[in-house]
Amino acid sequence: MTNIILLGPPGSGKGTQSKLLVEKENFFQISTGDILRKVVNSGSDEGKTLKKIMDKGDLVPDDMVIKMMLNSVDLDKEKKIIFDGFPRNIFQAKTLEKKLDEISMNIDFVIFLDVKFDILEKRIKKRILESGDKDKRTDDNESTLIKRLDVYKELTFPIIKFYEEKGNLYKINGMLGVEDVNNKINEIIR
Ligand code: AMP
Repeated sequence: MTNIILLGPPGSGKGTQSKLLVEKENFFQISTGDILRKVVNSGSDEGKTLKKIMDKGDLVPDDMVIKMMLNSVDLDKEKKIIFDGFPRNIFQAKTLEKKLDEISMNIDFVIFLDVKFDILEKRIKKRILESGDKDKRTDDNESTLIKRLDVYKELTFPIIKFYEEKGNLYKINGMLGVEDVNNKINEIIR
């Protein structure tokens, strides 16, 4: 089974590309952001705590997010998985590696969607304007965006080097159009 990690800053198109891989290539997407938003929407106490953290643009504590991610992997280990939004720091990357080792799974391709930071700001502002009230994410606003980019630079960006050293990192120009990025991903995974 082919397993992929999609890496990239907020607004780089990880969600869009994951959807295409699900629709066209029969992958199963594990998006920690989507899993967390479901808990937030449930209105539970845990959801209220998560909402505060996510609205600020901070990372949710590792123990919470790792538990949720591991549950999904256990349920879906027979499928081809795309990890979208996980790992977000070195500790999460190492935990994922350990867990996959234990169940004889591995990551075949870590695909990094590289997008310049000024372009990201434009993309996210467009996403804020275009999303209807129902779809609007409460963390899609300018101050949270700046915080999310800072968190990405400080905590997530270093994991690129971690995978580069392992030899399974593939970099794609994420500023290309959606179709072109999708084609490049397919060239890598086929
Ligand atoms: P995303 O939908 O991937 O942009 O994630 C939205 C928010 O969920 C992030 O800004 C974080 O607050 C939280 N989040 C998602 N994935 C993780 C993760 N792997 N670790 C910690 N927090 C996460």
